[in-house]
Amino acid sequence: MNQIGARAWVVLTKSEDERSWSANTGYDDSVGRYYSYDSNVSRYRQVQAGDLVVIRVDDYVAGWSFIDDIEVIPNVTKEISRCPRCLKTNFRQRATMRPKNVCNACGSGFEDSERVTELKNVTAYRANYERNWVEAARPVGYDQLKEVSQTTETFNAIRPLDPAKMPGFLELVSGRSTAIKPDLILGDSAVILGGHTVGLTRRRIGQRKFRFSMMERFGENCAFSGPQPPQVLEAAHLYSFSERPTHQHDGGLLLRRDFHALFDAKLLAIHPKTWTIDVAPKIRDFQTYARLHGSEIHVPKNRRPSKELVSKHYEEALKVFG
Ligand SMILES: [Zn+2]
Repeated sequence: MNQIGARAWVVLTKSEDERSWSANTGYDDSVGRYYSYDSNVSRYRQVQAGDLVVIRVDDYVAGWSFIDDIEVIPNVTKEISRCPRCLKTNFRQRATMRPKNVCNACGSGFEDSERVTELKNVTAYRANYERNWVEAARPVGYDQLKEVSQTTETFNAIRPLDPAKMPGFLELVSGRSTAIKPDLILGDSAVILGGHTVGLTRRRIGQRKFRFSMMERFGENCAFSGPQPPQVLEAAHLYSFSERPTHQHDGGLLLRRDFHALFDAKLLAIHPKTWTIDVAPKIRDFQTYARLHGSEIHVPKNRRPSKELVSKHYEEALKVFG
């Protein structure tokens, strides 16, 4: 298969809490801004300014863009670590379990001290793609990515995508029509999409992950107003980070952006006994919000958030209601 012509790529970056290929660390990535790689990874030569790049963080597509330019940093010394049994570099690190490393190729486990390491002189690259960045509007996972891939390999950091399938795929990711045509992707010159960028909102990786998990739990539905376009749906936390540091499925709701802001301000709340919406008197002059008052939330019984957390939010909201 001729892969040289590919001008669309999916690149893999690990989220901060799961950064794990010790064999390939040393470079930082900033989702929505730039992607770092080096001459030790397959296809590093083929990636060019103007190429379409889909950014995958762990299991999900975080967004996509076109590469603005590529910075080249020559003569970088990099430590390459290998599995002591099969000498492959493709292994993962575990946070707490022992042995600490597990080889993805041969399955053997080994501690850090057993790794076979060498120093290698590489050329490092940083592909900047901030200008046209479009944040994913909904969770698009690995299976959907596989359908638009040009190859079946699973572990390479840079993989070619089928340009012909990009228009539909990007529309799925973006939740809107993109005006991207395959010939645009296959063209030779850098692409500038004037006036095209909409999704400039950047989210912390944890927030994106939490939002995607809420979308998988509730679908593209706002808890207060039912079905909504994915771009306006946000994940609302029912707890403060300091108390419960992890993102939990029963600790959140999916809310339309304006409802989210009012929910955080405790001007909208959920009655924990009736699961109906309470609207603060001071915003009942606004039709949009007044009509919510007393209506039941759009969440199936078995998907309701933690009653304890809803009660806590409700109690605080009553103080704000006055
Ligand atoms: Zn191995």
